[in-house]
Amino acid sequence: MYCKNCGKEVDEKAVVCPHCGVQLKELKVENSNRDDYGVDTGSIGWGFLGFFFPIVGLILFLIWKDIKPKTAKMAGKGALISVIVEFVVGIVFGILTSVGIISTAWLLS
Ligand SMILES: [Zn+2]
Repeated sequence: MYCKNCGKEVDEKAVVCPHCGVQLKELKVENSNRDDYGVDTGSIGWGFLGFFFPIVGLILFLIWKDIKPKTAKMAGKGALISVIVEFVVGIVFGILTSVGIISTAWLLS
């Protein structure tokens, strides 16, 4: 590989060009895509985590929305679906309970 700044041949593993001291771009790009938590894969696993632990999903979304947008979106989506499902289940249970109370009251009267 060749240095993009001075054009001289440099070792592929070199972080800095030994001829002009410029940091080699390839490594810079690779570093910006990585962080302490790993690569931004947007894995479905984070969606499931967000679904089962919506608060964790929301926190992860807020932490990662800038550094790991794909993964953040997955965790956030899981949390959102979880909240919607719980909301719908809550309404259905509420209706069923009301129907149950009304029909019981009607049967007893
Ligand atoms: Zn150079």
